Amino acid sequence: MAGRLDVVVVGSGPNGLAAALTLARAGLSVQVLEAQPHLGGGARTADLGLAPGVVHDTCSAVHPMAIASPFFRRFDLRSRGVRLVAPDASFAQPLPDGAGVAYQDLARTAAELGPDGDAWLEVFGPLVEHADDVVELILGDHRRVPRSLTTAVRFGLRALEQGVGPLWNRRFRSDAAPALLTGVAAHSITPLPSIAGSGTALLLGTLAHAVGWTVPLGGTQAITDAMVADLLAHGGEVRTDHPVRTRADLPPARAVVFDTVPATVAEVMGSRLDRRIARGYQAYRHGNGATKVDYVLSAPVPWADERVRAAGTVHVGGTRAEMVAAEHALTQGRHSEHPMVLVSDPAVTDPGRVAADGNRPLWTYAHVPAGSRVDMTEAITAEIERFAPGFRDVVVASQCVPAARLELHNANYVGGDIAAGAVTLPRMLGGPALTWDPFVAGDGVYLCSAAVPPGPGVHGMGGWHAARRVLAQVGIHRPPDLAP
Ligand SMILES: Cc1cc2nc3c(=O)[nH]c(=O)nc-3n(C[C@H](O)[C@H](O)[C@H](O)COP(=O)(O)OP(=O)(O)OC[C@H]3O[C@@H](n4cnc5c(N)ncnc54)[C@H](O)[C@@H]3O)c2cc1C
Repeated sequence: MAGRLDVVVVGSGPNGLAAALTLARAGLSVQVLEAQPHLGGGARTADLGLAPGVVHDTCSAVHPMAIASPFFRRFDLRSRGVRLVAPDASFAQPLPDGAGVAYQDLARTAAELGPDGDAWLEVFGPLVEHADDVVELILGDHRRVPRSLTTAVRFGLRALEQGVGPLWNRRFRSDAAPALLTGVAAHSITPLPSIAGSGTALLLGTLAHAVGWTVPLGGTQAITDAMVADLLAHGGEVRTDHPVRTRADLPPARAVVFDTVPATVAEVMGSRLDRRIARGYQAYRHGNGATKVDYVLSAPVPWADERVRAAGTVHVGGTRAEMVAAEHALTQGRHSEHPMVLVSDPAVTDPGRVAADGNRPLWTYAHVPAGSRVDMTEAITAEIERFAPGFRDVVVASQCVPAARLELHNANYVGGDIAAGAVTLPRMLGGPALTWDPFVAGDGVYLCSAAVPPGPGVHGMGGWHAARRVLAQVGIHRPPDLAP
């Protein structure tokens, strides 16, 4: 591209691509610079060479927000040929004497939760009924009055109840429902209970019942491929193997949008940042980590409770008290004896993921202290075996990427922190520095990664919100249509 660009986007994760394609569609010249040899950041699928015909989602695997987020609703993955399919059972929590299962069907979920069915309905019923308002509330830029104050108050009260120790068990009488809720809260990798954790649980739980926890047929890569195709079709350019470390790595442009951690913006842009923002970025805290283990299995996981076999995602952590202990260990820098493990067998929802010889992928990760170098293969295997006796017998191959190595594949995952920052309420609402607009880092400098609201996840909203600010800078106040 000759001459000065309108916009350079640093990083090609879902937020970077969302920003880039929005800006390209508005008629701006856009170039995406990506450090890795491939595009997509946390939204990729790859052949790890473990077994013929078996591919693995290298980071994200399960995508309720790829259906529900306002950005993806506009972008409309389905009409671009990405087939997003939901399992009947969004997620499950195996327990020593059974399991809790969250079906897309809220009534069935409540019916199977027995004595706590009504409590589950009370927590989720009104939120599921107004799921669009919940999405707008949580995935918005948190800079305007919510569309529905009633939903905001309902959500807030439930988040408070499930995020504060003395309150959170009051509603429940058995083990399954509180464990089921805590398994989702644990996605935030924070000490539990916490408001950040309960907010995460309420959003993801609402989506589980409202739209289901979908997977794209063939794997997460389909989402990235659709976004890259759209960007290129609208004149955007991409360069891989191009890490941006200093300002010299950037071509001249009117605006730079960073899909990176805040520290990178501070390092690269230096004096172009407001001093207060630069200080906030440098002091930005990262959270504990995840160690990934990808398996190849010769058969589905033999979960003891057969209902768990139908779930797209399984939270392996035992009871609420066990998960609290596991997450507490991380705060002390320890590996828990029973770590929190997230498991997804994509072939439960997408039988096309089973190879010709019957082998299938299993995606797992365990929560570990930041920077852990421990190979968690045996620990994860043992945790799954606890609730699925015979699991070891179906394991054909596996590969572990310890937390400390995740950032070699994606600089945003510092020390294995897959949320690009500790998940706390101030960060989720306000962003990485004390400032009114977390998407604006300085004059012509923007931040769009998971470090800004609405935080982690494949929703593209950080990119969408940042792109709106860039458009305003160049005098475009109406965002472009994103429809295919
Ligand atoms: C193991 C794991 C499991 C997950 N599971 C899920 C899930 O199931 N569902 C879900 O919704 N989310 C999940 N997530 C989270 C989700 O992947 C991220 O929140 C999301 O990808 C964030 O998007 P992003 O665009 O902000 O950044 P990323 O997707 O992290 O992309 C950032 C990109 O910027 C590039 N980059 C960074 N620094 C530079 C630099 N200096 N120069 C050039 N390029 C740079 C990186 O290489 C990367 O490509 C998971 C994440 C991990 C790691």
